[in-house]
Amino acid sequence: MIARDLIKNVSAILPFNLSVWAAKPHTVAVFYHTICKQTSAHIKHLYPIVTPVQFEKDLDFLLKYFEPIDLKDYIAHPTPSMGSKPRLLLSFDDGFREIKTIASPILLAKGIPATAFVNPDFVGNNDMLYRCKASLIVDKAMLQGKTIATPPAARQVFPTERVSTSKFCRWIMALGFGQQDLISELAANFDVDIGCYLREQKPYLNLDEVIELSNKGFTVGAHSLNHPNFANLSLTEQIRQVKDSLSWVTSFVPNQPKAFAFPFTNYGLSADFYRYFFSENPEICDVFFGTSGYKPTSTHRFTHRTSLEVKGRSAKQILKGEFYYYLAKMIFNRHKVNIPL
Ligand SMILES: [Zn+2]
Repeated sequence: MIARDLIKNVSAILPFNLSVWAAKPHTVAVFYHTICKQTSAHIKHLYPIVTPVQFEKDLDFLLKYFEPIDLKDYIAHPTPSMGSKPRLLLSFDDGFREIKTIASPILLAKGIPATAFVNPDFVGNNDMLYRCKASLIVDKAMLQGKTIATPPAARQVFPTERVSTSKFCRWIMALGFGQQDLISELAANFDVDIGCYLREQKPYLNLDEVIELSNKGFTVGAHSLNHPNFANLSLTEQIRQVKDSLSWVTSFVPNQPKAFAFPFTNYGLSADFYRYFFSENPEICDVFFGTSGYKPTSTHRFTHRTSLEVKGRSAKQILKGEFYYYLAKMIFNRHKVNIPL
């Protein structure tokens, strides 16, 4: 990780053109979560936001170097024609409402296709990603100053009367998918009403909005049912999360490609998982997407994406770092990602 950051920092002074010329990407996949003017409490403590102004700048830059491509075209033609610009696949994870209200009008005006990867359990604001719940609690805790009275649900971990707010918040943000009962207890301790927040703020798209996006030419893919960390699931549950979320898309949104973006990361998946979907049951999913940056793999059916949400960095700076890091790995022949098929 240190080498990665070092190379990315050094690459800041090197030209972008050179990185594209040397890395010769044929497809670059990038993703955001949301585009908004001001951050909301449910994402405030998760990742930096990209404003509409920065988003437009990113897109104008991307259009100079890359040819945006629709996900259906990518699946139909995984290899680009000779001599064309590198292709760009743009996507949004988690199905937040701003994809429709803010991002889609900008993308339609510029003629850029994109894919929304949604979690069926969150569409319609019936539930929320557990990390968004944690962000709401942290937001409330931080209002109380440098220390807080230790909430009852945290007494086992912090046995003192009061606890440092920053220490407490770091602990909450590190809680996992399997600790959602504890997150619910903590929310109650802080009078954070998740149901009320979902009803009033409506952070996620509802089904009508998802269908409206698809009618306007956006594609819709699956992002698991409820956003677990796959590394902590059994193979059976991993398969269920992929199959059932893809079935949901097929059932409710007409004419969509079968595309799945891993929640968090694909890190830790077994060869059995890949064998199940790539060799034994290839009809279930056309293409999987990871989140490991610019990292070409041995099959177009598994494509890694680069997050364009990095504090203080534009799309140009982020992608330049990715390409130079890829080139550095090439020197040591560590740039190839083999997906076991
Ligand atoms: Zn996600």
